[in-house]
Amino acid sequence: MTESTTLGPREIAARLRQAGQMLRLRGESAYRAGAYETGAEIVEATAEILPELVAGDRLTQLRGIGPSLAAVIADLARTGRSAALDRIMGDLPPGLLEVARLPGMTLRRIQALHDELGIASAADLHGALAAGGVEAVRGFGPATVAKLREALARSPDDGDGPPARRVLVDVLEAAERLVGKLRRTRGVAAAEVVGSVRRAMETVGELNLLCASESPELPLRALVEDAAVAAVEARGGRACRVRLTDGLRVTLAVEPPPRFALALLSSTGSEAHVARLTARAAARGLTLEGLEGVTEADLYGRLGLPFIPPELREDAGELEAADAGDDFADLVTERDVRGMVHCHTVHSDGRHTVAQMAAAAAAMKMEYLTITDHSPAASYAGGLTEDRLRDQWPEIAAAREETGIAVLRGTESDILSDGSLDFPDEVLGALDVVIASVHQRHKLDRAGMTQRIVRAMQHPCFKIWGHALGRLLLRREPIDCDMDRILDTIATSRAAIEVNGSPWRLDLPPEWIRPARRRGIKFVISVDAHSTSELRHLRFGVAMARRGGLRRSDVLNTLPAAEFAAAVRP
Ligand SMILES: [Zn+2]
Ligand SMILES: [Zn+2]
Repeated sequence: MTESTTLGPREIAARLRQAGQMLRLRGESAYRAGAYETGAEIVEATAEILPELVAGDRLTQLRGIGPSLAAVIADLARTGRSAALDRIMGDLPPGLLEVARLPGMTLRRIQALHDELGIASAADLHGALAAGGVEAVRGFGPATVAKLREALARSPDDGDGPPARRVLVDVLEAAERLVGKLRRTRGVAAAEVVGSVRRAMETVGELNLLCASESPELPLRALVEDAAVAAVEARGGRACRVRLTDGLRVTLAVEPPPRFALALLSSTGSEAHVARLTARAAARGLTLEGLEGVTEADLYGRLGLPFIPPELREDAGELEAADAGDDFADLVTERDVRGMVHCHTVHSDGRHTVAQMAAAAAAMKMEYLTITDHSPAASYAGGLTEDRLRDQWPEIAAAREETGIAVLRGTESDILSDGSLDFPDEVLGALDVVIASVHQRHKLDRAGMTQRIVRAMQHPCFKIWGHALGRLLLRREPIDCDMDRILDTIATSRAAIEVNGSPWRLDLPPEWIRPARRRGIKFVISVDAHSTSELRHLRFGVAMARRGGLRRSDVLNTLPAAEFAAAVRP
């Protein structure tokens, strides 16, 4: 994201979707609404190059973006506002669109709620229903109100109960943009993301920000007046809570600079970690609140501890490790990773060619990448037949020539229901790398699933276990299997487990990375990229690996190309 961008691509996409939703709500042409929704998808898909396209007035080069939509996107990117969007939205706050999905909510009724009660969000509506008075609004009979109450009670995102969770990637863009803005705000000495986002939890309920300033009104105003804020839910002298147009709840707390480090530590959490620190302080005749320090490292130092990276602060053994002398200095970082593992191309369900993926990896200073398209059983994802797999090899050789980095020939083979792999042994043996994953029959019972995976692992070509638990965050539960038995098997088979960086998978989760590491099992941090932009998933894979306590030496793709190739060769 460039500094000049006022709204990031995801935020712009959210605005375009709202406009589409509003047009549908108004009963306008589905075509026009669809154009905005398509525009949102295009903006997300081209997020990386969007600032350049805006800067060069080249948005209309994107298929599906006409001149008027291009003007809207450019206005949002440059100023955070668009007159054309304002006309579509009328005087309705975008946050109010959240209530459009509730039963019986027509545009007329929504407008009446806004005009007569000043309701601007689902949270406001919840409050108004609790306080009474909605029955008096035009168009709201007792039956409508009863239905609304019922629907809001069921809704996880009613502004009263816990907010709906979303995956980390959906929060990061707003998080980084808002922190950047706060840091540039007059009177602000420091600003950080805190809470579960700083700890890189795979899903988060809200975004928490912290600022150091002697003049709290300045950062508070900067947030409240931000173009992405739909509603201010609460505002005090040193803190506020707002809701963004995409429904995300954001809190900001402001501390005087001398209190910043302590606030950073305690608001990053986790609760369990902070409770342990509190107890530790008490055991030394101190209090956590009484500790002095300019940085978090100072505060940990006062408690006789090394700096503990935020991703480890879960009371999951990090304090015991510190007491045993661990200083976490070799916890894996993005800089340690030398190769991109698990890349798809247009040969299966990816969007870019082998050459494009290799060039993008080279541009990210990678020394190698593995091309691992799907196998025949994954026909829904364009799985490659044996012939098509072989067809890919000359292209891989050419990409190697072209980029000068090692491009490894591989497959992401399905683990079939009976535990066999999806290519004949001689084909697997001819590859440089084999990732094996479960893609179908996720609901197999525990014994069947365990048997299936254990059997697959006994195959000599099984080298990397792909997205182990098969979960899709907030959408699909992990598979049921006897993990201890599977980890025991893999520990004897010289195979590695991937930490899949796809922000919708983040698989293996930390609670299983730790016991796997204790067994001496090696890992790869993979991107599972289906496009060049998804090579950026590396950061999520690294964050999960760090949460699981992985060190540089635990991760195979921190090795130079030749050593990596030797480690994963079937
Ligand atoms: Zn897969
Ligand atoms: Zn994949």
